Order: sequence, then structure tokens, then C-alpha cells
Amino acid sequence: MTEPREYSLDPQNWEEFRQLGHQMMDDMLNYLQTLRERPVWQPVPDEVKNHFKAPLPLAGLPEAGVYAEFRQTILPYPLGNTHPRFWGWVIGTGTPLGMLAELLTGAISAQVGGAEHIGTYVELQVLDWLKEIMGFPADASGILISGASMANFLGLTVARNAKGLVDIRKEGLQGIGPRMVLYMSAEAHSCHQKNAEVLGLGRDSIRFIPVDEHYQIRLDLLREAIEQDKAAGHLPFCVIGSAGTVKTGAYDDMTALADICAEHHLWLHIDGAFGALVAFTEQSKHLINGMERADSLAFDMHKWMSLPFEAACVLIKSRTAHYNTFTLTPDYLEHGDRGASGAKVWLTDYGLQLSRSFRALKVWMALKTHGVEAIGKSIQMNIEQTAYLVSLIERAPELQRMAPAPLNIVCFRYAQSGLSPDALDRLNKELLLRLHESGVALVSNATIQGRFCLRMANVNHRSTYADFDVLAEKVIALGRELVAEYSTG
Ligand SMILES: *Cc1c(COP(=O)(O)O)cnc(C)c1O
Repeated sequence: MTEPREYSLDPQNWEEFRQLGHQMMDDMLNYLQTLRERPVWQPVPDEVKNHFKAPLPLAGLPEAGVYAEFRQTILPYPLGNTHPRFWGWVIGTGTPLGMLAELLTGAISAQVGGAEHIGTYVELQVLDWLKEIMGFPADASGILISGASMANFLGLTVARNAKGLVDIRKEGLQGIGPRMVLYMSAEAHSCHQKNAEVLGLGRDSIRFIPVDEHYQIRLDLLREAIEQDKAAGHLPFCVIGSAGTVKTGAYDDMTALADICAEHHLWLHIDGAFGALVAFTEQSKHLINGMERADSLAFDMHKWMSLPFEAACVLIKSRTAHYNTFTLTPDYLEHGDRGASGAKVWLTDYGLQLSRSFRALKVWMALKTHGVEAIGKSIQMNIEQTAYLVSLIERAPELQRMAPAPLNIVCFRYAQSGLSPDALDRLNKELLLRLHESGVALVSNATIQGRFCLRMANVNHRSTYADFDVLAEKVIALGRELVAEYSTG
């Protein structure tokens, strides 16, 4: 026998493989149907961690064995964000439909960077819908990308290039004269600082403007900072407004920001990672008034639209500015007139990636299947559930709300009277860890006015009102437990 000289990675036995595929599908649908029966989170045992220090597999194993390993060592230990009582950070929950869309995406294995195929048309369709929802004009530009950090990165890159005094693509930022200055509130997300650092603008070019009692950017201080920078010979070029700050869900006054930007010829970029998604609701979309005046807007779909990771979008009003920032066409990527290279739009001309996933498919399927209305209702439900949790906090003498909660986020803590603020910091730190380890519910933390607090961020379409009763009761029970331990120990 001579060795065969053809080596496909397709299954050796399609019938067995098909059965395994059906098994996986059944198992995963059961898994999603019974999420509530499991703990939200559980620690990864050491022996499981050690399992992932195995030597490089040279010879392969049967698929069924590898799948069994997945079920044993991976499936039980996720972060828990699919669970109805997960409210940590701002992490979306996914949907069964999203899972199926990922399956179809994997089957096609499409590369949506360029060339003539259906992937580009689906993405352009999705972008048109997203522009309409977000109040952007039909001729605006945009692209799908992994997450809001990267969507914000693309927006800021276009802003930098559009507002620079020289051709930044050619000359870079080396010795070009005035410092380009960027403004955002002190509550803006940390990704903007990273982005500004990577873009060569530098941390010293960011003005973090203080917020008022509503956690909105102080417009008077913003105006002052711009005037000061101008007087100092710098080049103010961009304001980043927040549509839903990560810590408290505050919206900057975007109409006022747009007026200030118009007056000073600045680019207005809005980070609407989750907050922009209230555009889907009837009752809360007034919160984003003025957002439509932004030059660019970044938002996530893996948070409040419940798509599986990763999915985000940046919209940019000026197609020219967007295209001019990223287009570069070597001979081997020549855009032809006919055949498979004959595409009018190559999405690689609108971002850094050449190879790009077909994430548009899951967005398209979710919008078609749920419609704007169902997505909007689940978002509105999360806002109302958050108000319900606030009412529970306000009714419980041992709980204290630590910041305004205008949207889907509450910062609060266990606050037994008689304990000093420092003692309460320590107590709540331990309380949070015990809450995680209990597997009952999962929230994360934040610092508000120097104080440690629990932070509940609700982008969970699976949560019920009763789940918030469970959270409040558990926090109170753990708080009492700790007070008792401290007073005896
Ligand atoms: C989550 C978030 C980001 C970062 O988005 P990723 O998708 O995690 O990259 C940026 N801004 C705000 C306001 C966020 O909530």
C-alpha cells in the first residue's frame, strides 16, 4: 500500500460526523434551554486548568473524543454571561438564534474583506438598517468590526486624519506642528485613552473634562478647555461624547456637544457602545437626541443587541473621509470590473482588516427574525428592571444607591449603619467575592467618589423581575453574614 497523496481535512466518515453534529446541536439547545438550573459562575478547578497545559497534538484524535473533552472541561466553566442572573461589567448574553447564525457563518467561511460575493451585499444591507435606526443619513459610511473599542478606534482614526493639518497618512505625526487635542468626560471609557495612545496622539493630548452631578460632561469646562488650548497654539480636533457611560449609563448632552463642535470645527465622535441601542425602543429613544449630529458613532451589538461575540459597528457621516483614511490597493488586490474581483465596494477600504469575518450574517438574521420591535422591548425591559432594582435598594435600609441610575446600571452597596466608610469598602469587596462564589448572581464593581461599590449592568434579555429580588435578598444576606463575622471576629 502506498500512502494516499491527497489530504483533505473533511471528515473521514461523513455519516458518523453527521451524527456527532446532530448530537452537538441537541446538547447545545438543551444547554441553552436549561441555563437557569446551573450556577451563574463556578471556579475553574486546578486539574482543569492543568488539562490545558497539554503537549502539542501531533497525531489527531477522533472528533467524538475531542467533543467529550469539550463537554467535560470547557462547557461547565464559562464566565456565566448567558445566565439569567449575570449582570457583570457590560457583557451580552447571546441567543440561540445567534448560535445557529454562527453555525451558518462557519459553513460558508466567508471572507468579507473584498471581491465580488454576497457577503458584502449582506453587510451593506445591515449597515443601511443600522444607519436608519441610529438616525444617520442613508449616504453615510460604516463598517462592522469586532467590538466598540475597535469601532471607536476606527472613528478616532478618521477624525484624526480628517482634521490634521497635513496628510497624516503620508507624514505621520512626527514633528507636524500644533498638538492635536481631544476632549472627553472623565467618565468616558478607557478604550479612548488606549486608542489615542496607539494613534500617536499621546495621553497628554487628552483633556478629561469633569462631569456634573448627573455624570454628564461639564459643558462650561469643555468650552474653557477648548479656548485655553487654542490660546496655547494647540489644535483642538475632536470631542468624544458618551451615549451611556460605562459606570452609570449617563448620556452627555449631545445637542450641546454638536453645537460646540460646529462652532469650533471639531469632529464629534459618540461612543454609544450600549447606550446608543435605546434607538430600538419607543420609550427611551429620546435619550439619544442629538446623536444624529455626530460625525461618527461607535456601538456594540454583542452587548445590548444580544448577538454572540464579536459584533460592533462604526458609522461615519463622510464616506470620503472614511475611505481616504483606509484605502490602499496593491496590484494583487486590484478591484476589477467583472468576475470574482469585480466588486464595486471592497470593505477592506474602510478599515485595517483585509481578512474579515462574515459577522453581518448574524446581525442580518437577528434583525430579520426579531425585528426592531422585539429587540427594543427587551432593551426597554432591562431599563425598567433596573428601576425596579433601584426601588428594592431604596426600600431596604441596609442597601444604598451610590450614583444616579438613569438607564440599565446601578452602583450600590451594602451599608449597615454604624460601620465606617472604610469598613464598608472592605465589607463590600468581600461580599462581592462571596456573591460570585455562591453562583447565585454575578455583578461586578466600580469606584464611585472613592468608594467601592457593586455595579449591576443589565443587558440580559433572560432576566426576570424575580431575579432582581433574588439579587437584593442575597446581597442583604451576605452583608448580614459579614457584619456578624466582623463583630464576633
Ligand atoms: C464596552 C464598552 C466599550 C468597549 O467595547 P468592547 O466591545 O468591549 O470593545 C467602549 N465604551 C463603552 C461605553 C462600553 O460600555
